[in-house]
Amino acid sequence: MRLVVLGGGESGVGTAILGKKKGYDVFVSDFGKIKENYKEVLTINKIPWEDEKHTEALILNADVVMKSPGIPDKAPIVKQLMEKQIPVISEIEFAMPFTDAKIIGITGSNGKTTTTLLTYHLLKQGGLNVGLAGNIGKSFAWQVADNNHEYYVLELSSFQLDGIVSFKPHIAVITNISPDHLDRYNYDYNLYIASKFRITENQTAADYLIVDNEDSAIQNWLQNNKTQATVYPFSLQEEIEKGCYLKEDTIYTNINNEEFTMPIKELALDGKHNVKNAMAATAVAQLLKIRKQTIRESLSNFQGAEHRLEKVLKIQNVQYINDSKATNVNATFFALDSMNTPTVWIVGGVDKGNDYDELMALVREKVKGIICLGVDNQKLFNTFNGVVDVMIETTSMTEAVKIAQRMAEKGDTVLLSPACASFDLFENYEDRGKQFKQAVHNL
Ligand code: ADP
Repeated sequence: MRLVVLGGGESGVGTAILGKKKGYDVFVSDFGKIKENYKEVLTINKIPWEDEKHTEALILNADVVMKSPGIPDKAPIVKQLMEKQIPVISEIEFAMPFTDAKIIGITGSNGKTTTTLLTYHLLKQGGLNVGLAGNIGKSFAWQVADNNHEYYVLELSSFQLDGIVSFKPHIAVITNISPDHLDRYNYDYNLYIASKFRITENQTAADYLIVDNEDSAIQNWLQNNKTQATVYPFSLQEEIEKGCYLKEDTIYTNINNEEFTMPIKELALDGKHNVKNAMAATAVAQLLKIRKQTIRESLSNFQGAEHRLEKVLKIQNVQYINDSKATNVNATFFALDSMNTPTVWIVGGVDKGNDYDELMALVREKVKGIICLGVDNQKLFNTFNGVVDVMIETTSMTEAVKIAQRMAEKGDTVLLSPACASFDLFENYEDRGKQFKQAVHNL
């Protein structure tokens, strides 16, 4: 069997290694540049590869093709493969048959990484032999090739789910759905929603689906479509008989007839969105029979993920928070919502068709000053000028942080939560977050 891997990044190289180990004739082709360390790995494993081109003669003879998540369906080589009816699948689809592990698959528009890391932490603290993969760290296929775990917690993008045929998580989580990446879905929101729900398409009655009870896209889908899995919703607003809910600042769950309660003040992570993430992770842990005491301890000692409402430093009693990963309005909504002191807000970057009006009430309530950090801040000015006392723009992170320090008084918070992509001024959101932290440390 000839396996052609398109894309020589983490999931491509992992797939190639697994394929080679399982006896496939493997070839890796990347239209861009493959990183040196990956080239070395491929060469050591005697896997032929090419980069900066796609040689059709070496690709169109494949029996199966693994397409890396970054490559769109409209790429010419992918179109050619589809015309020839050669199966094009994703890494999770390729790797799953080679492991007996139980899979926990976590998708959604926001909160995937946080919920994945939190769930992994709960299961690991609970003593399970569990791996962490998907969009995080070492690829799933690579781990399946190297050291098989009994459980995997996978962070899954819609692109990974687009390329599945029989992939099935034992437990699926959909954190929430809001418009994102629509350029990859013909600007059709329904196609994006359908892609997220592919996580449940192969589930059976022995499997579980954990979802946000108040998310309109999720609830519409569930009303109009069928899943075989047992559905456990989590809710901030109403009591749920079977599932999780918040009441009087306490989480209550009833999962598989096991109850669990925990006051949210004991959670390590702040913010309503993190209450939801915690409920989802708790439901998974309960389904896998982790002890309640362990769940409670793990939820309270979890170290949050970098760039997600990450507390950087307190200087002269002003708390600086890095939420650089907030690249859309929905994520920033929850960040502002979780602020409980007057806030100086650093916002801006590349607008993805944002509707800032959704933030208006929170801005009025919590924000004392806005610093726009972007090349084009017109839309932010149009929305918020006059709503807050001060509004300033800059294209320098160092400047932004210095201005924020001058605006903030004792007890205030300085929050970087851009609601925008970063590539007008930064390499990516990590670079933006790191520059913010550096600038804060320099104060
Ligand atoms: P993803 O991996 O889906 O991008 P992350 O966990 O990296 O999600 O979080 C992305 C951004 O969304 C961060 O700014 C974070 O504070 C915010 N966020 C986290 N969980 C949620 C949630 N459940 N709903 C909305 N926003 C969230």
